Amino acid sequence: MSKSEQIKAIKGMKDILPEDSALWLDVEALCARVLDLHGYRQIRTPILERTHLFSRSIGDETDIVAKEMYTFEDRDGKSLTLRPEGTASCVRAGIENGLFYNQLQRLWYVGPMFRHENPQKGRYRQFSQIGAEAYGWMSPDIEAEMLSMVQQMFIELGLEKTHLQINSLGDQAARAKYREALVDYLSEHREQLDNDSLRRLETNPLRILDSKNESVQAVLVNAPDIADYLSEQSTADFAQLQEYLQGLGIEYQLNSRLVRGLDYYNDTVFEWVNEDFGAQSTVCAGGRYDGMVAQLGGAATPGFGFAMGLDRLIQILLEQQAPITQANMHPDVFIISIGTAARQQALVMQQQLTRAGKKAVLHCGAGSMKNQFKKADKSGARLALIVGEEEAASKTVGVKPLIASDKAIEQQNIVQNDVLNAVTNLLESL
Ligand code: ATP
Ligand code: MG
Repeated sequence: MSKSEQIKAIKGMKDILPEDSALWLDVEALCARVLDLHGYRQIRTPILERTHLFSRSIGDETDIVAKEMYTFEDRDGKSLTLRPEGTASCVRAGIENGLFYNQLQRLWYVGPMFRHENPQKGRYRQFSQIGAEAYGWMSPDIEAEMLSMVQQMFIELGLEKTHLQINSLGDQAARAKYREALVDYLSEHREQLDNDSLRRLETNPLRILDSKNESVQAVLVNAPDIADYLSEQSTADFAQLQEYLQGLGIEYQLNSRLVRGLDYYNDTVFEWVNEDFGAQSTVCAGGRYDGMVAQLGGAATPGFGFAMGLDRLIQILLEQQAPITQANMHPDVFIISIGTAARQQALVMQQQLTRAGKKAVLHCGAGSMKNQFKKADKSGARLALIVGEEEAASKTVGVKPLIASDKAIEQQNIVQNDVLNAVTNLLESL
């Protein structure tokens, strides 16, 4: 096969190779643990859903539904879509399985999402999100709890320079009134709007609020403020959330331009934004979506959730050289052996060590002592275990430190029966 025929990954989709996947596993495990600590339980939904699940929940006029979905007909002629986000599937699964019936639910998910976007730093066509959804609570305590949980993840991950922004979009009625006021105002300034904003003026005017265009931004300075349109209840809930956040010591900024790209939100919305990561700086985003369960055919159930972009998060952690990225991936021991009798004993020692939780890599296949030592050094293991012909005959094993700073410790010979003890003690003392 010539080079040009070589099959490559699809644009905007990437392989996560062994050197990076250990960090992914660690980050996911840390987040899963923090979710578990707060009583959130995992839900696993299919990656494919019926297309209209997303058009009905996310909204036809959003970027995602209008131009980013991977939609195709399957062999039965049904229109299917690779999920672009996780919330709609959670709601669909919750309704279908009766999870919302007289129950409160704290759920979380992790996995790949698909959007046909323009690939760039921090923006891919397949990317991973970890997210949480809480169903059945109208009150701002669940919102504070969730934001505190996200902050705990960031603290434990060692993520820095990432700040919380919040806003309230009010209920449906407030949004409708505000929308009208915004359209009236912006219609008087059409000449300063760019094409994107002019189109959105007809389809999705709230989205104009997060336009990056400078002339649009200038018009927005004097635009009506959504805070003036909130109901008493929305205003009180939003104030209560802020009080809770202050009590928790969680810093936040009020951002009345924060609207989020999906149509389904009401009242509280939020984003955690990293100050160094350029245009794709939102690490985690979410909000309240009290209408969605009913809209998809379930009994009216309030919802609140977030989604965190793992690709972005991990890229930022690497750039910040966060402690979790420096975790030691190396084996504890590398086992060298010569001949089948020795190999048999080496296999047994590996079995013992790994069952006791020691990371033990075995040299498999042929190889001279010198060659195996080279591989042991390359593996980054702290200790080499050596079973030559003599050791095999006497059921002993040589133990040798491999890391330069440990090399003052001499090679020792021990009986194989003692290997777990000896390795444990040495690893502790080195
Ligand atoms: P953005 O404004 O960056 O396009 P969004 O509003 O589309 O984000 P959400 O749908 O709320 O984002 O997704 C939540 C998070 O998932 C984002 O904050 C981001 O971290 C991540 N994310 C979204 N789209 C992508 C993508 N194409 N590639 C990588 N990560 C993404
Ligand atoms: Mg987007």
